[in-house]
Parts: sequence; structure tokens; C-alpha cells
Amino acid sequence: MPQILVVEDNKPNSELLCDWLEAQGFQVLAVDTLSQAFAFCEDHIPDAVLLDVKLGPEDGLSLARWIRQQPKLLHLPVLAVTAHAMVTDHERVMQAGCNACISKPVDFKLLRKHLDRWLPLSARLQHAPNVK
Ligand code: MN
Repeated sequence: MPQILVVEDNKPNSELLCDWLEAQGFQVLAVDTLSQAFAFCEDHIPDAVLLDVKLGPEDGLSLARWIRQQPKLLHLPVLAVTAHAMVTDHERVMQAGCNACISKPVDFKLLRKHLDRWLPLSARLQHAPNVK
């Protein structure tokens, strides 16, 4: 089962994302701080990361920048989620090495498209979505 790391400090947002991902057949690990996210990625390689850009006072994008400097995580898909869908924010997100910038509130159809596009083939083959 493909595993998604969700990094989001807002509890209701995190729960909404996790519930949806689990219903889609993903295994989800949720953390709400950067240090938890770093600790997780030191020991595990998820199939994708959903990253809230603003984690309280912390800049979520520092995780994306760090991931892109780790040879073993270089190809890990990082999908940023941001409440600030301004052009400058989008650029900042992409420059940090994220694969996509998704505005809040999250459009799940769009999120599904990004996951289909960016999940590695190995993860997609493990994943049998419920056909409705
Ligand atoms: Mn936040």
C-alpha cells in the first residue's frame, strides 16, 4: 500500500486529508511539526509527501529544500498545500523543489490528479483504487 506522509499543523485540515487519502487506499502517516517530518524522513521513504507550506511559525518549504538535498529522497514527490495561492507563493513553492502547489481548500479531484501524475510507478502499481 503506498504510503503518504501528511505534514499539516491544522488538526481539522489534517484529518480531512488523512480520511480522504485512507478512503483512496493509501496508508497515511500524519505529523504536525517540521521536526517530526525530518525525523520520519531520516528513517523512512514515503511514496509522497503532502506538505502544508505554513506550519505555525515554521516554513514548511524548508522540508522540501532539505528533501531535494538528500540523494535518497531526490525523487520523492512533494505536493505543497497552501492557503496563499498568490503567484509569488506558487513560485516560492516550486523553487523549493515541490512537484506541485495545491491551494486550500483542497480540491480532491485535483489532488487525485497530482497523485496519479507524481507517484512513482511502483507505488501506483501497488495501489488499486476503488473504481466507482
Ligand atoms: Mn498550517
